[in-house]
Amino acid sequence: MTGTGSLREVEEQLALVLARVRRVETERLPVSEAQGRTLAEPLRAAIDIPVFDNSGMDGFAVRFADARDASPGHPVSLRVVADLPAGSPLDPPIGPGEAVRIMTGSAVPTAAEAIVPFEDTAGGLADSLGTISVVGAPPAAGTHIRRRADDLAAGDLVLEAGAQLGPLQLSSAAAGGVAEVVVARRPRAAVVSTGAELVPPGLPLTRGQIPESNTELLTGLARGAGAEVVLRTTVDDEGDGLTTAVAEASALGADVVVFSGGVSAGAYEVVKNTLAGTMEFAKVAMQPGKPQGFGVTADGMLLFGLPGNPVSAAVSFEVFVRPALLAMQGRAQLHRHMVRLPAAVPWRTPAGRRQYLPAAIDRSDPARWTVRPATAGGSGSHLAGGLARAEAFAIVPAEVDAVAAGDAVDVMLLS
Ligand code: AMP
Ligand code: MG
Repeated sequence: MTGTGSLREVEEQLALVLARVRRVETERLPVSEAQGRTLAEPLRAAIDIPVFDNSGMDGFAVRFADARDASPGHPVSLRVVADLPAGSPLDPPIGPGEAVRIMTGSAVPTAAEAIVPFEDTAGGLADSLGTISVVGAPPAAGTHIRRRADDLAAGDLVLEAGAQLGPLQLSSAAAGGVAEVVVARRPRAAVVSTGAELVPPGLPLTRGQIPESNTELLTGLARGAGAEVVLRTTVDDEGDGLTTAVAEASALGADVVVFSGGVSAGAYEVVKNTLAGTMEFAKVAMQPGKPQGFGVTADGMLLFGLPGNPVSAAVSFEVFVRPALLAMQGRAQLHRHMVRLPAAVPWRTPAGRRQYLPAAIDRSDPARWTVRPATAGGSGSHLAGGLARAEAFAIVPAEVDAVAAGDAVDVMLLS
């Protein structure tokens, strides 16, 4: 709690959260169903990549001595004795003065020492099955032969446990002959919005009512962090709706409940009032996101009480909930990528609290990206419309009280 009065540092709050995280179980999935999951065991190649010596070009497999002296002035004639389309199981012999037509990816005959591409013959593809005339010599033995296990050998590590499996990673697994991977199960999340003023989006509003938007926000963010959302509900500030929602989340096997609203210092703070015994409510040295509730139920659900303002909820999710969801899955990298960019415009920052400002990145000069507030109206936590333009959070230290144009700013990228 240095330099921020009675406020708790962000890192301290995050450490309290991460200390209560338990890993979810693992499961074995076909690679076709594992996209986005976190690898729970090291992934090793089952077979060599490439699987066998194969041709890197469409052309002719030759003995090196036959073709090494070929040139446009001194073409070399070779007799084509076999044809190897991709997938051919054949391994034809190649005698002196002979060649085998071969396509890219086909297994190179044991007797071949180099590949002569069609481009280095007089007739090219058009005249490729009788006698060919080689006009360009392979520069060395082995030219255009892709060797078995050049990339990975069977048993080699493809990825460490803790890696997220995207399309590139899963295609590597498939190429290495791996059909199934062991991954963390998806954490189950319940998203519970609170507030008597909230109405489903699109419905007519009477005075005092606003559209409910945090469910969409927090559901999407939870899914983006690998979770399965098992419950979405909005409860009143009074009555037993909140207690019912917690019971329902528990019955659905939720690992995490994400509340929004009802955690600050007003008169009708339903999360605070209902769960005071189970959750701790702290003031954290950040803006937005100062009021934070966190706790664990007797049956092990993590409860996050985020402030209700949409920007506050978005920032709080990024800072506390996302790392927790990733840690539950054993993800090696818990934090978003950071980049330092010059500010395009000046803006104000709160005294004594770290600012997380929804930000847009100007990429018009690829050599000099800059960052600016996503909302023209500043950093207000109620400016939900500006979130649509945000692709990052600019993070300004507590001790800085104004950002000038050109100042280097830390930027958390959201994708
Ligand atoms: P609270 O944290 O409950 O005091 O809410 C702070 C502000 O955020 C109030 O203006 C609420 O109306 C608004 N708010 C709270 N929850 C939501 C929600 N789910 N969707 C949209 N706005 C909300
Ligand atoms: Mg409220």
